[in-house]
Amino acid sequence: MIRIEFEEPIVEICECCNNETIKLTRFVYKDENAFAIYYLKFTKGHDYKYALGIISIGDWGTDEEPKNRFSFPFRIWLNDNNEYQIGLMDKEESPWQNALLGKILDRKDALQHPWIKEVFHITDHIVFEDEKLIEYFD
Ligand SMILES: [Zn+2]
Repeated sequence: MIRIEFEEPIVEICECCNNETIKLTRFVYKDENAFAIYYLKFTKGHDYKYALGIISIGDWGTDEEPKNRFSFPFRIWLNDNNEYQIGLMDKEESPWQNALLGKILDRKDALQHPWIKEVFHITDHIVFEDEKLIEYFD
């Protein structure tokens, strides 16, 4: 069972258009154990609506780059039928490059990773439960 803990949003001003960029941090628990964190980022008022995100799963450890931790960058948007779409992205496209996130996987490696099912399980919860994101796409 997945439970998400929601932090207060951070609001920044987009350099390209002076609209608000919303940055979200969430902690994910699985059967009440710390399991993952994810970040989301989106800007209000852009013509094309999408959000960027990254899900980081694994041990935090004490290494500079935790070896048993992997991160999966992705993009969320709505298709013409107003259904959420999730697209994995390459590492270099990710606005998050923090070493503490562990190894950030390119799309092709992410798709073959044994944890990819957990990633899509979490994104299912995100589009259903993350009110700030849902509100943005509404
Ligand atoms: Zn902008």
